[in-house]
Amino acid sequence: MIIILKPTATEADAQEILSQIEEAGLKPLHMPGVERTVIGALGDERILQSLHFDNHPQVEHLKPVLSKYKLVSREIYPHDTVIDVGNTPVGGDRFTIMAGPCAIESYEQLLETAKQVKASGATVLRGGAFKPRTSPYSFQGLGVEGLKIMEQVGKEVGMDTITEIMDVNDLDDVARYTSAFQIGARNMQNYTLLKAVGETKHPVLLKRGLSATIEELLLAAEYIVATGNPNVMICERGIRTFETATRNTLDLNAVAFIKEKSHLPVIVDPSHGTGVRTLVGPMAKAGVACGADGLIIESHRNPRESVSDAAQALSPDDFSQLMQQLIPFIKASGRTYQEALHAS
Ligand code: PEP
Ligand code: MN
Repeated sequence: MIIILKPTATEADAQEILSQIEEAGLKPLHMPGVERTVIGALGDERILQSLHFDNHPQVEHLKPVLSKYKLVSREIYPHDTVIDVGNTPVGGDRFTIMAGPCAIESYEQLLETAKQVKASGATVLRGGAFKPRTSPYSFQGLGVEGLKIMEQVGKEVGMDTITEIMDVNDLDDVARYTSAFQIGARNMQNYTLLKAVGETKHPVLLKRGLSATIEELLLAAEYIVATGNPNVMICERGIRTFETATRNTLDLNAVAFIKEKSHLPVIVDPSHGTGVRTLVGPMAKAGVACGADGLIIESHRNPRESVSDAAQALSPDDFSQLMQQLIPFIKASGRTYQEALHAS
């Protein structure tokens, strides 16, 4: 339920309503605005009705939140949320590029790749230290050693960092060494993990599950926000369909739909979305065009040597060329992007 207060309502009126909501065992939300204060009350609708806020002299009107997801919904918060990943703001009128290798393989590999993607316009360095591999015989990542490499490289090159967290036991290490958590497609419905990252204020990029519906994705995001962490970004990374020509089917409907329904930033991953190097560029441009707030792209200093996802990794030259090609798309979408401004 959303409670819209009259313009004459004071801060004391808002506080009185908020404590009534809390005392009734519901979750209160305080959203002071320029013209009027909006209060959210989440929980059992019957209890809410028993509080009779419709009779409160300072309440203008009550509005039910119809969607299953509440806190991530634009019904509760109509404006775009901007999340700070280290020094990189994500969302609003900015366009953000996150890039780097699929996996952190060595200090030299990450450093060289980081310098190259930064020079082309990326501000957030990606790279997995804990890799969720389909086969138990594939490279599983460097673990905490990889996190330390990422911290060092991020500092040396001047980039914010993001890496996947697979296990709640690694929470402190991942939060200490990097700027943001990535929750991978295979863990989108790992509710223990969602609640654990929800206990922190560390930014989270939540990737869509391989066969998750948009509603399931938004409800997974709701878990994190409802636990207490509002710093959530959604990632469309392709879903499994009957199509086998590409690794996944990048669902750009989801991007436009989520932007309409939710205030959270949406990032498109054309690398996992296609699994095909030559398709990363076209789908990156399509991602910008349909309203994404940023892209996460896999790039490797030498794609042929990449220990994972080699077929979709862009070489530094390919990545740099793509960034140049993206500039007019970013401008046309009305977004600002550091490098785009330099180039204009
Ligand atoms: C990754 O980003 O390298 C990754 C494993 O992604 P996803 O969880 O989307 O498969
Ligand atoms: Mn990958």
